[in-house]
Amino acid sequence: MTSRASVVLSVVLPVYNELKVLEELHTRLVCALEGCGLSFEIMFVDDGSTDGTTGELHRLAELHDHISVVRLSRNWGHAAALKAGIDLAAGESVVVMDADLQDEPELIPQLLEESRRQKADVVYVVRTGRAEPVWIRGLFRLFHWSVARTSTFPLPRDSGTFGLIGARALAEIRRLDERLRYFPGLRAYIGLRQVPFAAPRAPRYDGKSRVGTRGLIRLATQAFFSQSRLPAITFYWLSAMSFTVATGLIIFALVARLLQQSVPSWSSLMIVVSAFSTILILGLALAFEYLARIYEEVRARPVYLVDTIYRASMMTTAIKQAKVTADREQSETPINPYVSTA
Ligand code: UDP
Ligand code: MG
Repeated sequence: MTSRASVVLSVVLPVYNELKVLEELHTRLVCALEGCGLSFEIMFVDDGSTDGTTGELHRLAELHDHISVVRLSRNWGHAAALKAGIDLAAGESVVVMDADLQDEPELIPQLLEESRRQKADVVYVVRTGRAEPVWIRGLFRLFHWSVARTSTFPLPRDSGTFGLIGARALAEIRRLDERLRYFPGLRAYIGLRQVPFAAPRAPRYDGKSRVGTRGLIRLATQAFFSQSRLPAITFYWLSAMSFTVATGLIIFALVARLLQQSVPSWSSLMIVVSAFSTILILGLALAFEYLARIYEEVRARPVYLVDTIYRASMMTTAIKQAKVTADREQSETPINPYVSTA
């Protein structure tokens, strides 16, 4: 294993029964990474594979000292494997990607270049196309649109796990310790400087998803409930609607009663049912509001995250330094001491 201190970049790959792809994946990864001219680690997180992946990973790790392998105690699922990799990676920065070659290793140098060029904390890959049937593409589109639309903070559409996470962002993502995880949501949550990188999604190497339909539904539900307050808000709307309808019905029942147009006890029944239904739905809305708040408290995300701090004394120093530099270079461009160069 490469010495932890010397690794600049770790590539983290959750792996579940990917025996057939490993050789080619490793060759393509090494080819892409060697061109980058930095020390790297390829970290495979073996998520309880049963098809010989474990043995093959150990064989590769014995041959190459840039390979690290984390074997989980059983199959914990993609999100958990990803967390293990992110927590245990030795690199200053991390690239997270799937092992099935749907995320192409050849894009890694371009992600690094983009992060350098844009001074970005995160470069996330946005999918411009998918090599899947039209109806699946349609479902993905609908999913990304609805989650982004109802998210409580800005969430980029059509981005998956693939991307580069710089040192600052990595430290912040490691702090997010919640159990039910939707990685693109966690990554977006931390903020900082995040830039998109457009690329099409390649077809799966062996064509068969390891996550599967049930896994995808679980992921979609997780994404929706962790990002959105829509389920709770729906009951506020329902209670508002119910209040309006109940008021109309109560007035109607009273008028019918006054004009002696209703059968006996219809009006009183109508009033009682309408009033109590409204109270019930409003009660549910309030209960959901408390549940949503408890969920927020329980997952204990940081209340805020700092990008840059300029303290009063440092500000004076920054202004002085800016003036000295400006004088020396006799530049006509004003220097803004409030802009971070981090
Ligand atoms: N994976 C995993 N644990 C699982 C299922 C999948 O670590 O329980 C890995 C899998 O080996 C792959 C990545 O997660 O590297 C994405 O899985 P897959 O390609 O099946 O997902 P899809 O592309 O269908 O969303
Ligand atoms: Mg895949």
